[in-house]
Amino acid sequence: MHKLLILWDPYNLGLAMIGVLLFSGAIYFEAFEEFYHFSRAHEDLEIDEILTGMAAAASMLPVFLFRWNWRLVLANRAIALAKDRADHVALHDPLTGLHNRRYLQLLTENGAKQGGAAPQNTAMSVLLIDLDRFKPINDLRGHDAGDELLRQVAKRLIEVCSDQYQVIRLGGDEFAVLTTAAANEQSNSRLARRLQTAISTPFYVENWTASISCSIGIATWADGMSASDLLRNADQAMYRAKALGRGTYVHFDDELGAEVRDQAGLEADFRLAVEQGHIIPYFQPIHDIETGALCGFEVLSRWHHPTRGFVPPDRFIPLAEDLGLIGKLSDKVLSEACRNLAGWTTDLGLSFNLSPSQFGDLSLPARIHDILQSHGLDGSRLEIEITERAVVADFDKALVIITELCALGIRISMDDFGTGTSSLATLARLPFSKIKIDRSFIADIQNMPLNAKIVSGVLALAASLSLDVTAEGIETAAELDFLKSHNCTLGQGYLFSRPVPAAEISQILTAAKSPDILRRAG
Ligand code: C2E
Ligand code: CA
Ligand code: CA
Repeated sequence: MHKLLILWDPYNLGLAMIGVLLFSGAIYFEAFEEFYHFSRAHEDLEIDEILTGMAAAASMLPVFLFRWNWRLVLANRAIALAKDRADHVALHDPLTGLHNRRYLQLLTENGAKQGGAAPQNTAMSVLLIDLDRFKPINDLRGHDAGDELLRQVAKRLIEVCSDQYQVIRLGGDEFAVLTTAAANEQSNSRLARRLQTAISTPFYVENWTASISCSIGIATWADGMSASDLLRNADQAMYRAKALGRGTYVHFDDELGAEVRDQAGLEADFRLAVEQGHIIPYFQPIHDIETGALCGFEVLSRWHHPTRGFVPPDRFIPLAEDLGLIGKLSDKVLSEACRNLAGWTTDLGLSFNLSPSQFGDLSLPARIHDILQSHGLDGSRLEIEITERAVVADFDKALVIITELCALGIRISMDDFGTGTSSLATLARLPFSKIKIDRSFIADIQNMPLNAKIVSGVLALAASLSLDVTAEGIETAAELDFLKSHNCTLGQGYLFSRPVPAAEISQILTAAKSPDILRRAG
């Protein structure tokens, strides 16, 4: 194919044609002589007229060949021009005129083909820049303003990088700077700080001022890396930078790589665990503080991983939220907990935790209703624990869901009261029946005057609103005494029992019927 192309090159063709012309000229001359003698011998045939016609036609041949070749040259030039244009479009971002992701891919792929050496045989690093808070600006000011801001950002990045480094727009509000000169950690850090200073200086777009910042992840080329490896490392470092707080930069290193791989492994294992029902409910007894009587159980999810061991819910619940699996996990655990409850000889109920992200799902009440029904349980056997974060994102939607749950006879309690943003306004606007005081306030309360004041304040507030209160994390008799003397109604904690698997509940139910537990709690 390649040889054919060389042969068809117009210049080679031109040379070939000159050769053909010289060769055919010689033959032409020979033939002319032969024809002359022949026509003299046969004048009656008027061969000389025919020959003259043919000679005239043949003399036009070089002109035709020249024109044909010239057309070929022009067509080839047009093709080359069109190819250049197509390459430019394919490798550039139309909004900013910067190179694009494809360009970076080609650059690093070429590097990989040169035996794993970095492109242009230098230690190349990528600084992946993601603008912080760009989306709200785009949403609020419109796409034209967003585009203008991106153009100005590109300009500033180019100014910082001058001719030394290449700036690439990867898409959206993501840019990359390639250090083509020999780079090291110090020079990359310096460059990152300069880029951040440039971006955090206010922008003037149309008639308003935009103040933004950027998070930067830095990764350095290593032998045998593909473009996607390099970008993925920079991406992971950038996400770490975002997590540390906006306007920071992070270098990718082996430790971060190992953490990310471990997280990816955990994610895969978690998906499987949800699918196969390996995450199961444990039950922590809730007691009446005054009498010590058993009043119900809080359902707490447990995951015992075959090699990782016990994975705490504080680790896998956020993972479930990130992976969009929280609804599925919650349904499975609740269903299993209800199946257990239906098999026990008790009319006690369950307290079940729902994640804030589940309050964006309007099908939640119907699904909970179905689960209760399929185990023959009434809504009054269930209490839902939510934190205030559940209603912060979309209060109206959360209110619809909570109202529907209440209509099923399910009670709602405000979990982790006192931490985060729990406010009286939320408490007043939603139909809560209980407050749960977070265990951070209960620990060693008899020796913590400030916590003691907060808890007695919450208890007084709850009494005035006719709400029950459950104190979490009661570990000592002294803590229990304090709560008892301040009229706290309910309590749970290691003093009573740790969360236990369903198999141990019948024992707890039997013990609850004996007066022993009353003595322990009292
Ligand atoms: P939480 O709702 O505040 O649950 C109480 C936590 O305190 C539980 O931790 C429980 O094991 C622990 N705890 C209970 N008594 C004591 C005590 O006396 N001392 C100490 N140190 N700790 C005690 P756990 O089981 O690790 O759960 C952590 C959080 O994970 C829970 O906090 C809850 O917010 C969440 N969670 C657990 N299971 C689920 C679930 O199925 N769905 C959702 N959405 N969240 C869950
Ligand atoms: Ca809870
Ligand atoms: Ca808590």
